[in-house]
Amino acid sequence: TVSYKPGTRFAPDHIRIASRNIELYSIRNQIDVEEHGIYDEGDIAVVHGDVYQTLDRVEKIVREFSSEDRFFIYVGGEHTITQGIIKGLMRKDLGVVVFDAHLDFRDEYLGLRYSHASVMRRVSELLGGGALFYIGVRAFSREELKEISKAGHEYITTVSLRRIGLREVIKRVLRWSDRYKHIYISLDIDVIDPSMAPGVGTPEPDGLTSWELFDLLNEVIDERVVSMDLVEVNPLNDPSEITSTLAAKIIVEATAKYLSLRKERS
Ligand code: MN
Ligand code: MN
Repeated sequence: TVSYKPGTRFAPDHIRIASRNIELYSIRNQIDVEEHGIYDEGDIAVVHGDVYQTLDRVEKIVREFSSEDRFFIYVGGEHTITQGIIKGLMRKDLGVVVFDAHLDFRDEYLGLRYSHASVMRRVSELLGGGALFYIGVRAFSREELKEISKAGHEYITTVSLRRIGLREVIKRVLRWSDRYKHIYISLDIDVIDPSMAPGVGTPEPDGLTSWELFDLLNEVIDERVVSMDLVEVNPLNDPSEITSTLAAKIIVEATAKYLSLRKERS
């Protein structure tokens, strides 16, 4: 349902290629992901032009996976897939940390109720009030802001993030997440400033730096995180492949954090 610059369907392959050229040692977690490996399940076949059927397939596959004791990172594709994933997870008591420049909280967009611009509105309907915590938002309508507050969700814009600092942001996320048994992370790559991640569908200046995201992600991922997604990379708008490379690095770092938690447990 991409509205501006199409091309996210090519992201998984580009991220795969980019991943072959980065080191897999995580400095933050002192874990060499190469020693453990990352398993690639391959692509879910989407039904082009049929968002309902596509979401159905996503949901079914996620449901199959969710009984397994593995850490799944779902790579988009556009942000709409998150809706299918959350449905497939079938978890009660689930809070979602959303990294995104946008709120994606329109009731409908260009006549569509199932689209990247309204995906979080649908997720909110599934999970209930207060279940969303946004980090890095900076582009939304007054209407969306009103609806967010009405639903009791929380958000930190990039402007206030720079004012209060990362430590305080992390404190607030943890305070919010205290009430949830499970956490899901939805990461729209356009949360990063377009100067560092130009390959997106809807670029929005005044974003996070990549290292701010890495630091935040490393704190937000704890034992309660069941899954995450990484969406909206657009290789057609990414001539130097830096956005795909960043996405590959995010997958490696998230995996490293998961592995370090598992090591602590055993
Ligand atoms: Mn976005
Ligand atoms: Mn989004």
